[in-house]
Amino acid sequence: MTTFESFGLHEDILKAVKEAGFKEPSPVQVQAIPLVLQGCDIVAQAQTGTGKTAAFGLPTMSKIDAKSNKVEILVVTPTRELATQVSDELYTLGRNRGIRTVTIYGGNSYSRQISLVEKGASVVVATPGRLLDLLKNGRLKNFQPSIIVLDEADEMLDMGFLDDIEQIFSYMPQEKQTLLFSATMPEPIKRLAKKI
Ligand code: AMP
Repeated sequence: MTTFESFGLHEDILKAVKEAGFKEPSPVQVQAIPLVLQGCDIVAQAQTGTGKTAAFGLPTMSKIDAKSNKVEILVVTPTRELATQVSDELYTLGRNRGIRTVTIYGGNSYSRQISLVEKGASVVVATPGRLLDLLKNGRLKNFQPSIIVLDEADEMLDMGFLDDIEQIFSYMPQEKQTLLFSATMPEPIKRLAKKI
């Protein structure tokens, strides 16, 4: 049986896992965590409720320099509700390491979200429309995350966000780790995965 201890996660992250009451890693965590720690790009098919947030959150938040003053991890989610949910979970799992998380979505003040990012957040969880707006208008200075996660990619397809996603990638650094999670794998998602 694989244990959380066997992955080589950062000790502060492991402590958060214990505090969250997770006893053993779920199947998507067993498969994804070692690959993400090694720096691989991954495409993962996983439904909500399988532990996919921790599958990308634990290894990415283990690896980054929590003291760096720039955004290291960008998570793009299709909806504001999911963004908030993912952000809450990453906050819980990352707070022992001192990792700050900011959520960026439409319908909320631009300036407040930007100032929170500038105050030294390591993780940004964003919906595609608002994020693209900020990138196009040059409102996010020095925004070069080293890890990009697309969560619920098939939902983004259904909601018509694939163009936005491709545009978002045009602002991202050449050198990066990309993780794609989707409940289903329709052709356009497979094509997107290849492209990015
Ligand atoms: P998700 O699939 O990311 O939406 O996660 C569903 C729920 O399962 C969340 O409330 C997580 O906190 C919880 N969870 C994630 N991984 C584990 C685990 N290994 N053991 C128990 N609960 C978990």
